[in-house]
Amino acid sequence: MPQIKVAMMCSVCSELNYITTKNRQAQQKKLTMKKHCQRCNAHTEHKESRLKK
Ligand SMILES: [Zn+2]
Repeated sequence: MPQIKVAMMCSVCSELNYITTKNRQAQQKKLTMKKHCQRCNAHTEHKESRLKK
């Protein structure tokens, strides 16, 4: 089962705030989550962003 690392990027300021893993086959869609962003100092929508290997 290939687990891939993805970064979660704040959709407001584009800061990469979190690293998570996902299962490529189970989650074909891009992840989005509400997370706290330190730069925005608020909960914002975070989108999946690819990490360089
Ligand atoms: Zn932010």
